[in-house]
Amino acid sequence: MVHYIFATEEQKEFAETAYTIVSKELGPKIEEYENADGGLGCYPQEVHDKLVEAGFYGVTIPEEMGGLGLDPVTQAIILEKIGEVDAGFAFALASAESQWPNILKTSMPDEEKQMWIDKILAGAIGAFALTESNAGSDPAAMTTHAEFDEKTNEWVINGRKCFCSGGPNAEFYVVMAWTDKTQRPSKGITAFFVEKERGVEVAKKENKMGLHLSETADIVFDDVRVPADHVIGHVNAGFGEALGTLGATSAVCNCCPVLGSAQAALDYATNYAKERRQFGKRIIDHQAVGFMIADMNMKISAARCMLYEYLCAARDGVDDQKLGLMIKCYVTDTANEVIDMALQVLGGYGYMKEYPLERHRRNARIFQIFGGTNQIKRKNLAKAIAGRDPQAKR
Ligand SMILES: Cc1cc2nc3c(=O)[nH]c(=O)nc-3n(C[C@H](O)[C@H](O)[C@H](O)COP(=O)(O)OP(=O)(O)OC[C@H]3O[C@@H](n4cnc5c(N)ncnc54)[C@H](O)[C@@H]3O)c2cc1C
Repeated sequence: MVHYIFATEEQKEFAETAYTIVSKELGPKIEEYENADGGLGCYPQEVHDKLVEAGFYGVTIPEEMGGLGLDPVTQAIILEKIGEVDAGFAFALASAESQWPNILKTSMPDEEKQMWIDKILAGAIGAFALTESNAGSDPAAMTTHAEFDEKTNEWVINGRKCFCSGGPNAEFYVVMAWTDKTQRPSKGITAFFVEKERGVEVAKKENKMGLHLSETADIVFDDVRVPADHVIGHVNAGFGEALGTLGATSAVCNCCPVLGSAQAALDYATNYAKERRQFGKRIIDHQAVGFMIADMNMKISAARCMLYEYLCAARDGVDDQKLGLMIKCYVTDTANEVIDMALQVLGGYGYMKEYPLERHRRNARIFQIFGGTNQIKRKNLAKAIAGRDPQAKR
């Protein structure tokens, strides 16, 4: 069942169909994928391929370019449902398919752009590479840089990115690099479209607490050359033109998978509480448990209202940046709280790997960290609300 009450019949059908595919193809094999590659986990490529085949990949690509042209609200409803099966898979899928708008911002010939859009519609994975070992919350501390070679009309990129989601699976990367170190980040960092075949090396794959179905790795650029037309937007304007315009994309990638996971945890805990009996009655009829479940329903509904208020506005052309900051914190904090409460409802069984709550709990935690930590989002929100002090000296 789709939980967004304003969903149209068409949106419900899209989401339910995607959910049916993922629960059938992935559901029974989650543990296998979680434990693959010596316990590091792996991206379920076969499930990805099934979704591609059914048209559920690159869903926001406009119809005139061969896609379905779905709006971010519909995309979100689909990803929430997929997140009910596994937040790691939903996140990996969302981030892989969401890089396409950057291709249109390059000055590559139209045929080349369309060739890449066609590749994405056929399943090609994209990854976003900003973070470095000493540059997380403070991306300006990055050292990756690109030099322009006038003789060949190419940029030469050098550096090492870390924590790149989809890094091992990607066919192309959106990469941030310094192009003018004498300037501020907003005037000295450029975003590049870089095909893997240009020499991008995938290095250390991370061993994570959860999110095992989304592979995370270091990626290395050692004199990787890209033509001048691979610049995304304008030279030295990458922060504003690639990072600053993520809006609905980051809301969908960062919030929907974990909200779906929280809904699944709540549904599981509710059914369990109606079955499990202690002291001669169903545990849901013990007020402490019943109230927990009531609270979980309230929290998840409030988070969903906030998320879809933002996405409906984005669909209609309004990017409410303060609300964007609020939802990243509120939805991901709430989802973590709800999943933790759901685990509590199962008592000792919630802690066992045999039950899905343990995996939902491990997967959810990262959503408060990546995409900008919730501390950084709160800091930026407070700053946006406070505005400039008119009495402050310049
Ligand atoms: C599984 C995973 C997947 C990821 N995927 C990607 C990806 O695809 N692409 C990509 O580029 N990056 C990715 N990241 C990186 C992620 O965005 C960063 O980890 C995150 O932004 C935090 O950076 P950091 O880990 O260096 O922590 P730090 O920046 O070192 O922060 C450590 C702590 O200090 C706090 N802190 C730091 N500065 C401040 C401040 N000014 N005010 C208040 N608190 C502060 C933080 O909130 C945090 O609690 C991923 C990370 C993980 C773990």
